[in-house]
Amino acid sequence: MIIWREIQKQNFKDWKKLSEFLQLDHQQLEEIVLRPDFPLNLPLRLAEKIAKNTLDDPILRQFVPLKKELEEALGYKLDPVQDASFRKSSKLLHKYEGRALLVCTSVCAMHCRFCFRQNFNYDTSPEQTSFATELALLTEDPSITEIILSGGDPLSLSHLTLERLIKDLDAIPHLKKLRFHTRFPMGIPERIDEAFLNLLTHIRMQTIFIIHCNHPNELDEDVLAALKKIQKLGIPVLNQCVLLSGVNDSLVTLHELFEKLTNHGILPYYLHQLDQVKGASHFEVEENRGRALIDALTAKLPGYAIPKYVREVPGKMSKTSLVNG
Ligand code: SF4
Repeated sequence: MIIWREIQKQNFKDWKKLSEFLQLDHQQLEEIVLRPDFPLNLPLRLAEKIAKNTLDDPILRQFVPLKKELEEALGYKLDPVQDASFRKSSKLLHKYEGRALLVCTSVCAMHCRFCFRQNFNYDTSPEQTSFATELALLTEDPSITEIILSGGDPLSLSHLTLERLIKDLDAIPHLKKLRFHTRFPMGIPERIDEAFLNLLTHIRMQTIFIIHCNHPNELDEDVLAALKKIQKLGIPVLNQCVLLSGVNDSLVTLHELFEKLTNHGILPYYLHQLDQVKGASHFEVEENRGRALIDALTAKLPGYAIPKYVREVPGKMSKTSLVNG
């Protein structure tokens, strides 16, 4: 029995059950889209951290499909970062110099309402776990030295599929770095099991582990202990987060998040301005407010605890810094 798979089966996928669990009242339910196109998917661990009888909890805000999502907002699109124009195959994106991104699965441990890839045309063919085309493309292009495993969430893949994929990537000599982008450990830290840790110890490429944590409440002792196991292998663990109204757009929350991360050896890497994906406009925080928050944090925390505040501008060859111009 694979423990994390069993835990994943406990995810809330039905609003009726979750609303009962959260003791939401009739008025609160009126604000929710009960059958959204991007369905509910919330691990029990995160649900247990949500305050009862309110829609204002910072964890719940990230996962609750409010009716505000149905409002049209200027500039908000299905593919705000223009992923589609960088597709080299159904699963390989090549946007930045030297790096390519493998959308290795459509599956996530959780569904975040602000996700810029929620409308991505994922490869869901019967061959979706075959990466033959992508491996051939990577082999042919020696300019790519770093491969980023993203999705969806790469840790959603079965151990065998992930192991086979990593072994195949490891056999491409010009690939020097392997990067994971994952939100899985905040929902199901049990995913960092012995088999996964053993897999990490056998990778030739320099491995970098990037988590996506937006609020300090997502980091509990079990989550931090799981990440510590990765750090003990000598693998750097970094965090990227998104600045989200009602979730983390306060000095107190960001201070606590970045301090908690650095107290556990996890470097805050990026604070992203929201990508303007359709339905997410209620999460937007103005850039001036973001800059003011970074300024205030700079006065309180050491430099290494302050992430780069950036936004993704479609067509640009790197992230755009929102501080100093
Ligand atoms: S890809 Fe990441 S941000 Fe998007 S829904 Fe999955 S876990 Fe959330």
